[in-house]
Amino acid sequence: MEEGRDPHVRLGGVAEAASAAAGLSAGRRIECEVLVLGGGSTGVGVARDAAMRGFSTVLVERGDLATGTTGRFHGLLHSGGRYAVKDPQAARECIGENVILRRIAADCIEDTGGLFVTTPIDDPHYAERFIAGCRDTGVPAEEIPVAEALRREPRLNPRITRAFVVPDATADAWKTVWTCARSATEYGARILPYHEVAAVTRDGDQVTGVLARRPDGEQVQIRARVTVNATGAWAGRIAEMAGCRVQVLPGKGIMMASNHRLVQTVVNRCEMPADGDILVPIRTVSVIGTTDTLAADPDRWAVTKAEIDQMLQAGENLVPGFAEARILRVWGGVRPLFQDHAPAETRDVTRAHAVLDHRARDGVAGFLTITGGKFCTFRLMAQDAVDAASRVLGSPRPCRTADEPLPDSQERRFYQIGSRLAEREQTLTDEQLICECELVRRGRLEDEMSRRPAPSLDDLRRALRLGMGPCQGGFCMFRATGILHQVKHLSAADAGQALLAFLEERWKGVYPLLHGDQLRQAWLDDWIFQGVLDVEHLPLSAPAPEAGAERQAGAGRQAGAATGPAS
Ligand SMILES: Cc1cc2nc3c(=O)[nH]c(=O)nc-3n(C[C@H](O)[C@H](O)[C@H](O)COP(=O)(O)OP(=O)(O)OC[C@H]3O[C@@H](n4cnc5c(N)ncnc54)[C@H](O)[C@@H]3O)c2cc1C
Repeated sequence: MEEGRDPHVRLGGVAEAASAAAGLSAGRRIECEVLVLGGGSTGVGVARDAAMRGFSTVLVERGDLATGTTGRFHGLLHSGGRYAVKDPQAARECIGENVILRRIAADCIEDTGGLFVTTPIDDPHYAERFIAGCRDTGVPAEEIPVAEALRREPRLNPRITRAFVVPDATADAWKTVWTCARSATEYGARILPYHEVAAVTRDGDQVTGVLARRPDGEQVQIRARVTVNATGAWAGRIAEMAGCRVQVLPGKGIMMASNHRLVQTVVNRCEMPADGDILVPIRTVSVIGTTDTLAADPDRWAVTKAEIDQMLQAGENLVPGFAEARILRVWGGVRPLFQDHAPAETRDVTRAHAVLDHRARDGVAGFLTITGGKFCTFRLMAQDAVDAASRVLGSPRPCRTADEPLPDSQERRFYQIGSRLAEREQTLTDEQLICECELVRRGRLEDEMSRRPAPSLDDLRRALRLGMGPCQGGFCMFRATGILHQVKHLSAADAGQALLAFLEERWKGVYPLLHGDQLRQAWLDDWIFQGVLDVEHLPLSAPAPEAGAERQAGAGRQAGAATGPAS
């Protein structure tokens, strides 16, 4: 892979036309064998796999890594039980990958276990179909007495009539994506966040790469022998840029996080997949979800009050009292549901994945789309996509990702909920704590700030869980802004802008839910930021209109939606 002023890299006539159409002139140039579009779990998985097989690899992502659906999911490492009756292929993929990810990504997984329970509103006959489906698809499921289930989870609805144990777990999507990206980089890949694909370039019937645009306006011409479209719910748009047709339905789902763990095990309703039927304990919170409705546009959708009420009610059925719990925030994401022919319901679309070779489909060579699937099948999706890419390159090479652990997972030790507290206790008296809720220490914050090019507090939130606890940034964000100002040598206006952008983003997820203790907290935060700091009247720099973080915020603002974290 070579960068920049390489005299052998030439833009074809079509590329120049695409460049002109996108309002770009060719700037920096990069060449590679495999170019991956999209920095969610799928794209980063593809980049790691391709780099491990020795292909020179580049990945471009329009925002920060995992700011698409991957950073907004429910947090469940599926056992496959959810799909055992309705979608057996997806169930088989889930359990196969569940076993592999436990082996290679242990540090990103908490082994919570899972329960399927028959609640008073569920069809009591479904349990037999569930057990048969699990048996047919290889999902281990064992019935336990209801009394035992209630002993394990005392807050569970005491009126459940049956309970089954399955190997569900929870997964930290951000950690998985970043460690995959780190591993890919160690194998020589270049990971380029904040590079938006503005045009896909073609030379006749051959895709030759993309023109990418950075938030500062810089343009990058990337030429590749094979381009892999891994842009999730946006895959149809990217395919269109290449002159191909892919139908990906954006299946919108919303989730809500309570301020602590109401259950310690993933709890699913033993019923056909429905809305609000899973409660996931992840990190310090429990997440109820989700809905599944068709969004017209993956960037424009809204969280409605009716959906919030529906989730509160659904939580109540699993854990009585849920509707009165302190709910921190609501957010949503869009599933990439691949479907050649539109179905009536998004829930009817298979959760299995598809690799599309556009040479066979559309007569366009050097271009693949990997779509559909789940977070928990990202490694398998990547394997299938890179198998296809290596066929295009005429160089089949074996995949090793099922065996080689990710960095930090070599010891195959699962993440433990108490590990951050244990780590914090080691530096209790000699290091300042910046975020009390999430135990973020100053040194860790400064390191992360120094490592990142963009001074975005929202990116730091995802990296460190900064500001994700009950105060939603009320007590840590003014401190973090001061440190950002110092570490990144920002002007006061830029630091103020970073703070305001963070607060606006957080507010979108908080205001639809305000009541009780969380309303009191929001008032206090408001007094801190408006009353004491007068944040809305600080001299501010203009926000970069094209910045990836801004675009994500824009998506939510446009639709009044809460865009935000997976927990
Ligand atoms: C509500 C909800 C709950 C879910 N819960 C679970 C769960 O519990 N367990 C599970 O396994 N799965 C779950 N899923 C499914 C799972 O989250 C997704 O299938 C998976 O994360 C998709 O990953 P991806 O990498 O394919 O897409 P994404 O993560 O969306 O990545 C695509 C990337 O492409 C980027 N992109 C778009 N356009 C451009 C462009 N022009 N230039 C450059 N980059 C671009 C986007 O910014 C994005 O980062 C859930 C999904 C939803 C919506």
